[in-house]
Amino acid sequence: MTTMKKKKKTFEQKIYHNWCKSCGICVALCPKKVYDKNETGGPVVARADDCIGCLVCELHCPDFAISITERVAAKDKSAA
Ligand code: SF4
Ligand code: SF4
Repeated sequence: MTTMKKKKKTFEQKIYHNWCKSCGICVALCPKKVYDKNETGGPVVARADDCIGCLVCELHCPDFAISITERVAAKDKSAA
């Protein structure tokens, strides 16, 4: 037995809107429906915590406008 708790990994979705051409591929392909469409069809991060880090959006974006990074779990804030 171990006392270590397994924490769910969380990910950050960075969208480079200057590069995004609003093709909607990322919105359509994300298996967890992390993105909603904005008024031009580009992605809005709507459910960031549902992201499983599969990288489908990053790999399929034709304009390299998405970067997925794993969030590092914040430790207890002692100096707050
Ligand atoms: S990494 Fe996967 S789950 Fe996360 S936003 Fe991209 S497609 Fe969706
Ligand atoms: S796949 Fe890339 S270019 Fe297309 S909407 Fe998503 S971020 Fe924009």
